[in-house]
Amino acid sequence: MAVRTPTSHIGTTAPDSRSSMRRSLEDEVQYVKGVGPGGTQLLGKLGIHTAGDLLHHIPRRYEDRTSFRRISDLRVGEFATISGRVVAADNQSTSRRNFAITKVLVDDGTAAAQLVFFQQPFLLKQFQEIQRTGRWIVVYGQAKRGGYGPIELERIEWEELNDDTDGLSTNRIVPIYPATEGIRQERLRKIADAVLGSHLEAVQEPLPPSILLKHKLMDARSALRNVHFPSDFATLRAAQRRLVFEEFFLLQVGLARRRAARSTEEKGYQFLSDTGQLRQDLNSMVPFELTGAQKRAIDDIVADVRTGRPMNRLIQGDVGSGKTMVAVAAMLLAVRSGFQAALMAPTEILAQQHAIVLRQLLEPIGIPVELATGSKNGKARQFAYQNIASGMSSIAVGTHALIQDEVQFHRLGLVVIDEQHRFGVLQRQALHKKGDTPHVLVMTATPIPRTLTMTLYGDLDTSIIDELPPGRKPIKTHWKPSSDAPNVYRAMQKLLDRGRQAYVVCPLVEESEKLQAKAATQLAEHIQSDLLPSYRIGLLHGQMKPDEKDDTMRRFKARELDVLVATTVIEVGIDVANASVMVIEDAERFGLSQLHQLRGRVGRGEHASYCILLADAKSDGARTRMHVMAETNDGFKIAEEDLKLRGPGEFLGTKQSGLPEFYIGDLIRDNDLMDETRRAAFSLVESDPNLIKPEHQRLQKALERTKLGYELIHVS
Ligand code: ADP
Ligand code: MG
Repeated sequence: MAVRTPTSHIGTTAPDSRSSMRRSLEDEVQYVKGVGPGGTQLLGKLGIHTAGDLLHHIPRRYEDRTSFRRISDLRVGEFATISGRVVAADNQSTSRRNFAITKVLVDDGTAAAQLVFFQQPFLLKQFQEIQRTGRWIVVYGQAKRGGYGPIELERIEWEELNDDTDGLSTNRIVPIYPATEGIRQERLRKIADAVLGSHLEAVQEPLPPSILLKHKLMDARSALRNVHFPSDFATLRAAQRRLVFEEFFLLQVGLARRRAARSTEEKGYQFLSDTGQLRQDLNSMVPFELTGAQKRAIDDIVADVRTGRPMNRLIQGDVGSGKTMVAVAAMLLAVRSGFQAALMAPTEILAQQHAIVLRQLLEPIGIPVELATGSKNGKARQFAYQNIASGMSSIAVGTHALIQDEVQFHRLGLVVIDEQHRFGVLQRQALHKKGDTPHVLVMTATPIPRTLTMTLYGDLDTSIIDELPPGRKPIKTHWKPSSDAPNVYRAMQKLLDRGRQAYVVCPLVEESEKLQAKAATQLAEHIQSDLLPSYRIGLLHGQMKPDEKDDTMRRFKARELDVLVATTVIEVGIDVANASVMVIEDAERFGLSQLHQLRGRVGRGEHASYCILLADAKSDGARTRMHVMAETNDGFKIAEEDLKLRGPGEFLGTKQSGLPEFYIGDLIRDNDLMDETRRAAFSLVESDPNLIKPEHQRLQKALERTKLGYELIHVS
């Protein structure tokens, strides 16, 4: 086997003649040994421009090449690294035109394995050449049973073992980097080794000694050296942990400083906090008693707004936990103190819903509510804006456009953001740039996992509503194959006969709003003519005019409709207590959080409620989602599962998620470190808010270098 004696000079390449020059992490990569002009361009494609970038170009996986797996020992299904000699290579013709399969037979002395490549006919020449020279190759892939022939490997990554004089690619744990076409792993390894040799000395330890000690962290230089060329897997894990710690810690220090600066420097409005009056107002509005969790959240708000510093609070609560009343309490505090309050919703339909609810609650006690949405016609909108500008309207409800530009407030004291987790740290900061600093209350539409809360809303104080109003019966959720639809609709009919109402959510069409609307229309027609001919069926989708939508909603609420067929426009906020059944067609197309959000439309009244997921879930992911939905009603649990299944980007909705990009940290894998670094960072900032102690100088510098850190310090 092509394995030589191990070498251990990694990162200690003898300094060259320029060693007397001071190296900086800002040095351009082309001056790193072995890069050159061609390499510079290729590395640029990977986002690598400086020596520092190169040091932080972290392997995406590692191969243990100290002992290769014997081909004869390969088990079907496993991912493994083997090494062997090419003994045959051939392009196979297939019955389908323009479809090439390349098969390569590799033998390591214990057995032969067949490598299978699709659509890469050019590989044949390369492998024939390798076979001719008799050199060994290293192959990583997944083992598969190949008929009666040799075991096969799929999803292959491979490289040729040239004379590995520097010992970077054999007989050790070998890094595999994110790469781009035209640059081989072997070359990347050489370059990484070179930059460690020339520039590791330029890395300064940003973490204070006390933190290193307390959290048992490897020093910065050792961590970088070992993350590229680990001596063993335990050391690798320690190195990774150290680097993730640093990355998360810098973020948390930034967030902590942001929060500290706000509470010491920024002036906010001081609200009167007559809790007696507040209680009286709330009691006169609703027949029910607030839950303990609602009261605690309101207490938190009262404590915030009486300090004279701007409130920045996040309210998290599951669907139906009663967040609206908490928002109403905050708005009452503003209005009773002579200020205006704005409520921003993610969509127009939800803004309209909110306006209806708020009017019902607030107008009887003499507080006018203005709806200011884009779709109102010119005159009406102007009139609404005038009322807001003059201070006639104490409360304005609208979409995010409300705060963005044209609307002038007379005396805005509070902004409530009812959101679909889109408003990240920096977006919220922009809000403050409007000159004044209103109190801000953010309400998430669905629970989000703790790790994400700490990242996305890490500068906010948090109140959690972890209690549903009393008397709620848990929603019974069942998963049925689509072939069961006739039975499901028959069962629905029985409930309709008892006076209940039902929602039917139509399959998700991602291509366009138009197609989505068409699908909803067809489903409604099908239900009306084939399934429930003697019932009154309504339709709601995103392409309807606001008036039509309003009218449909009103009729459903007034029980003039038995069944509402709808797209996900009913996902947010719609509240009809008598609706106790929901059927979700093709439920496997929806994400977990979305299903949970949809389901939250039922179970709002005194009746037992049902949610039926019609789904022929084919993938593992889809089956898991259906099981989770059937098993739990706990929104926080569902959010955790959803995050695990989809990852943070998808979970939050990729566009504008507001999430910082991490070079090594992974919010799912490293979720415990976010907690640990947050506590460490907040206590450090408490002891030294401006990072002026000598032992915090390097930390301050490092913070300025990271993008988010910089913005957190400088935008205010
Ligand atoms: P969320 O916005 O958190 O999803 P809502 O504020 O829309 O929930 O409240 C859901 C429903 O529960 C509403 O019909 C509301 O009137 C009702 N509700 C809120 N708080 C209570 C309570 N303490 N007791 C009984 N019902 C409540
Ligand atoms: Mg709500």
